[in-house]
Amino acid sequence: MPDHDDRRPGLETLAVRAGQHRTPEGEHAEPIFPTSSYVFESAAAAAARFSGEDPGNIYSRFTNPTVRTFEERLAALEGGECCVATASGMSAIYATCAGLLESGDHVVSSRSIFGSTTLLFTNFLRKFGIETTFVAQDDVDAWAAAIRPETRLLFLETPSNPLTEVADIRALADLAHARDCLLVVDNCFCTPALQQPLALGADIVIHSATKYLDGQGRCVGGAVVGARDLVGEGVYGFLRTCGPSMSPFNAWVFLKGLETLSLRMKAHCASAQALAEWLQDQVNVERVHYPGLASHPQHELASRQQSGYGGIVSFEVKGGQAAAWKLIDSTRICSITANLGDAKTTITHPATTTHGRLTPEQRAEAGISDGLVRVAVGLETLDDLIDDLRRGL
Ligand SMILES: *Cc1c(COP(=O)(O)O)cnc(C)c1O
Repeated sequence: MPDHDDRRPGLETLAVRAGQHRTPEGEHAEPIFPTSSYVFESAAAAAARFSGEDPGNIYSRFTNPTVRTFEERLAALEGGECCVATASGMSAIYATCAGLLESGDHVVSSRSIFGSTTLLFTNFLRKFGIETTFVAQDDVDAWAAAIRPETRLLFLETPSNPLTEVADIRALADLAHARDCLLVVDNCFCTPALQQPLALGADIVIHSATKYLDGQGRCVGGAVVGARDLVGEGVYGFLRTCGPSMSPFNAWVFLKGLETLSLRMKAHCASAQALAEWLQDQVNVERVHYPGLASHPQHELASRQQSGYGGIVSFEVKGGQAAAWKLIDSTRICSITANLGDAKTTITHPATTTHGRLTPEQRAEAGISDGLVRVAVGLETLDDLIDDLRRGL
């Protein structure tokens, strides 16, 4: 950056440039370092490294230069002090909880979260003495009422999957801090290109890099971003010992994904908005969930909090599961897969896939009806996507 200008570089510049440290080879693109360990000049140098006196690479479960470039770039995009990359989005959530919570602690979570995250809280953290209370995402009073003296962490996703419910990050951050809790936000649907939760008061941002950060459905990975004393110590301490680290190859793929993130998100948003508006006019569609529609209950909040409405559109078709499956099976372009954040449009039936392991009661509480279809709008020609959905409607 020119030194006469202390303006912070823009998001697109950071996405292309941040975190790269060129080697003496003078490579232009970021290199991949596929090495499990690192060599030392001498036994004394090794000892200094292991004691922490000399900061540097020891072993790729702890640090790797390609992974570090990805971490520094994502931290810059989220406006965070520190980022730790993980093997998956779920391991990012698990590492955050395992690194920062203790047996006897309590979590308050939005009810509208990724299915596996719900199961992590109910089936696994519970085994280690960490209880979770689930509340309605948009009801700040319910969040406040659920907080106990032993509550350490509030957890949410906004917009949520698959109903795109929007939570008020600022209000929940204020509540968390007034009650001595941390606010953790899963920023998977928006990415830092559309929403920066740390700037709104959140303490920690979670990513499934598998989704939009990759952007082309190639690799599984995740990340945790936040202050150094939380992420750089608690979360990193868990990761380097327990081991769900990101591979250098995956980090390199995600780095390349970040370079086009802003451009892709704009295109995803534009097509999703147009598709949502078209769906709204279809007689066999009962309801469309998209924050960019004036009919969305948190449309104004989304307009304030996000710089775009995202690429996920969910809608309920008349006729329940049979009609939803017929629509899905009539498509020829959309991929029938539960992944999202891909250049390829994906279509899924949440009740029997992503949320299929929940009990019918849990599904009803989360608002996942049998007629609900989720489309993660990709980068194909919009008219082709509309024709693809028209066939089954
Ligand atoms: C996919 C997803 C996750 C989990 O990420 P993985 O990379 O699949 O482990 C977490 N949160 C949200 C919102 C997701 O969509």
